[in-house]
Amino acid sequence: MTPPSVHTTFLAARDAREQAYAPYSAYRVGAALCLKNEEARIAGCNVENASYGATICAERTAVCRAVAEKGPKVEFEHLVLVTQTPAPPCGMCLQVLSEFVGGEFPIYLATPEGIQEALTLNDFLPRRFNLTPPSSL
Ligand code: ZN
Repeated sequence: MTPPSVHTTFLAARDAREQAYAPYSAYRVGAALCLKNEEARIAGCNVENASYGATICAERTAVCRAVAEKGPKVEFEHLVLVTQTPAPPCGMCLQVLSEFVGGEFPIYLATPEGIQEALTLNDFLPRRFNLTPPSSL
């Protein structure tokens, strides 16, 4: 049984997936972050580019939106990722997420029909690259 707060995040991710710009792959992805102590969800979709390398994944779109809207101390409760068939975040997105969350951070994989799997960052990226940022941040 999916907790109600996760279902709310799922709905935001599913809606975001509808906004995906994926003319090259037709692989539409929606992601949504639940912020700690906040009702609102911050969602993102993939935005592809003709150069391919400039493509931005849904998860990083959501993280960047969250930081832009809430500042660098934003805290995340969980992430829901919606794809046509359950798929993990890519390595680059996992590394970006690891900048803001710990290893036990919940990541839910979903299809448009609902949550399919509940995992953690450690399940995907147990040995992250990690530098201690300067104390001025
Ligand atoms: Zn990615």
